[in-house]
Amino acid sequence: MPYQPCPVHGTHQMYPGGRAEVSDKTGESMSSKYDIIQYYECDCGARHVTEGQPHEQRSILYHIYNGYLKFLGSTSEQADVYSFEVDEDNISYTTATSLSGFEFKELY
Ligand SMILES: [Zn+2]
Repeated sequence: MPYQPCPVHGTHQMYPGGRAEVSDKTGESMSSKYDIIQYYECDCGARHVTEGQPHEQRSILYHIYNGYLKFLGSTSEQADVYSFEVDEDNISYTTATSLSGFEFKELY
């Protein structure tokens, strides 16, 4: 399983928390290749990055589960940016607006 059930809420409550920068281990930007730039985070620490905007009831499109994201660090100059390394094979795709085990929420 690329993710575990949420230990805090049962179903992960994913809130948008900034921008994602995802690269493969050669340094090629998967964020540029697949437009994966949306970053979500749950209180339990689980992260999820997507191309689409499911918190606005839009399709998820390309996305990556927490278990496949290797966190490299974050910066916050103009906006919070979270960097990850990922294996391109672990990028999933769906036109759905929701995922089993997750709720994508608006911040306010
Ligand atoms: Zn959670």
